[in-house]
Amino acid sequence: IKQENVRNFSIIAHIDHGKSTLADRILEKTKALTQREMKEQFLDAMDLERERGITIKLNAVQLRYSSPNKGEDYLFHLIDTPGHVDFTYEVSRSLAACEGVILVVDAAQGIEAQTLANLYLALDNDLEIIPVINKVDLPAADPDRVTKELEDLIGVTKDEVILASAKAGKGIEEILEAIVERIPSPIGEPEDPLKALIFDSLYDPYRGVIASIAVKEGSVKVGQKIRMMQTGKEFEVNEIGVFNPKPTPKNELTVGDVGYLTASIKNVGDSRVGDTITRVDNPAPVPLPGYKRLNPMVFCGLFPVDANNYNDLREALERLELNDSSLQYEAETSQALGFGFRCGFLGLLHMEIIQERIEREFNIQLITTAPSVIYEVVLADGETVTVDNPSLMPDPQSISEVREPFVNATVMVPNDYVGSVMEICQKKRGSFVDMQYLDDNRVNITYDIPLSEIVYDFFDQLKSQTKGYASFDYDLAGYRASNLVKMDIWLNGDTIDALSFIVHRDFAFDRGKAITSKLVELIPRQQFEVPVQAAIGNKIVARSTIKAMRKNVLAKCYGGDISRKRKLLEKQKEGKKRMKMVGSVEVPQEAFMAVLEMD
Ligand code: GDP
Ligand code: MG
Repeated sequence: IKQENVRNFSIIAHIDHGKSTLADRILEKTKALTQREMKEQFLDAMDLERERGITIKLNAVQLRYSSPNKGEDYLFHLIDTPGHVDFTYEVSRSLAACEGVILVVDAAQGIEAQTLANLYLALDNDLEIIPVINKVDLPAADPDRVTKELEDLIGVTKDEVILASAKAGKGIEEILEAIVERIPSPIGEPEDPLKALIFDSLYDPYRGVIASIAVKEGSVKVGQKIRMMQTGKEFEVNEIGVFNPKPTPKNELTVGDVGYLTASIKNVGDSRVGDTITRVDNPAPVPLPGYKRLNPMVFCGLFPVDANNYNDLREALERLELNDSSLQYEAETSQALGFGFRCGFLGLLHMEIIQERIEREFNIQLITTAPSVIYEVVLADGETVTVDNPSLMPDPQSISEVREPFVNATVMVPNDYVGSVMEICQKKRGSFVDMQYLDDNRVNITYDIPLSEIVYDFFDQLKSQTKGYASFDYDLAGYRASNLVKMDIWLNGDTIDALSFIVHRDFAFDRGKAITSKLVELIPRQQFEVPVQAAIGNKIVARSTIKAMRKNVLAKCYGGDISRKRKLLEKQKEGKKRMKMVGSVEVPQEAFMAVLEMD
């Protein structure tokens, strides 16, 4: 198939607007999948993704489409994008592999924060946009209103908007023809030096790194020597191919092709997402634009419940890192929790996913500490240090200034909830930036907020205060000085390093009170009375007490009720798994997260 009949595109959408369902319909219509394979939404491969309904890893599928209107065959590459704010950079890279996008908007929900964020990424990449209003079968569908929103937002006309129901299979032919008609073919020269964009990379224990690539210039064959333009590392190509949707080896990939490449690459760090591959014999002078290193924004400690699992945990992290170059970790020792690792993540969802994978795939029970951001601390002598672990915050006397990361947070919400959203943002130390009406009913509110406040249950509060109507997105805005102090928690007179956190001085007293009472709730009674104190330096700001255990819990049960007794015992055993002896006190996992639930 000739280059002018190639179409490379992605589907972008706010979560749950129907991206995966539409992708399935397209695969079905192009006969890429059998009925049986259709059972699973093919592009969301991992279990965890399916359960959470999100897409983390990118995938590209090659499809053949015979256009009834044109009477010609076309080669499509459908590139999947992750749908969560933590993965914006990956979305941006996968869009760089495309010439166009299908923008899916739910006919009942309308445009949401992630619709906008993805749309901006598409515009940044100069992509052709095909607007699709999905779920028109829903009783609450209001395609006229959503069409109006799209007209206002991207200046499309009514007849450019396609009405569809991915679920019922409506509008799919029209979408396929629009891909042919409206999305341009790739423009590179097959005779130029090779430039292939790496937009994903995945580690396979047998073949090494499998890089997903989009060939933008030139061509590449098996056996050729290639160079990663960012790292300078060189390799020999073992295999190249396309996903259709199963991996299918090819002799050559040329301009416009989107597929995979293996070259005995042992480390995903050597084939970084966003890097450009060229050939050693005829190298390109400059790489493709836009290489950016990903920096973790959120840090927490991961400790094995059973200290014997420390080496297993190290191995698990090594394995996960192979597939995820944005995961960072280093050894950490905590007086309270023993040996573990300080890990850096792109955001909260990324953090939860890694924790869950360690527990599920590697079967290691974890104690995780509350997430923290990276602080910049200017010391009295003028030196600046970065601190990603609250317990390592220097002495207050030696600090001249503490700076914290701020984000530009965009919340999109129906009119009625503007007050609640502003109240939450204010409480989270946000300062108002802007407010724009999208239509008669919906408002886009922008605030400047410390990232640490976003990390602490911002999204949960937003959702509960707006009955789930708010959608949310954020970008890092930079570091600013704040009046921050470290708060320590003492259990039975001992400082528990893993419970320390950083707090704004104005909130220190309230948070101290809140966390001590929360800990009293969460930590079970021990054989003796345990004082719980919150302190700044040596100054106690709050105190509460865990009373001593009185009687055997089983004594509470009625004599004969065996099944109830057994249930209670099982429940205790279940709880035990997540307990950790900290000094003389047994502390459950939840206690280390208590700081997240204090407002
Ligand atoms: P994604 O998060 O954008 O990938 O969304 P999914 O494709 O996973 O769809 C989210 C939910 O919406 C699922 O329960 C789908 O079955 C449902 N859905 C998708 N398309 C339609 C549609 O056209 N009509 C209706 N009624 N439901 C749909
Ligand atoms: Mg999906």
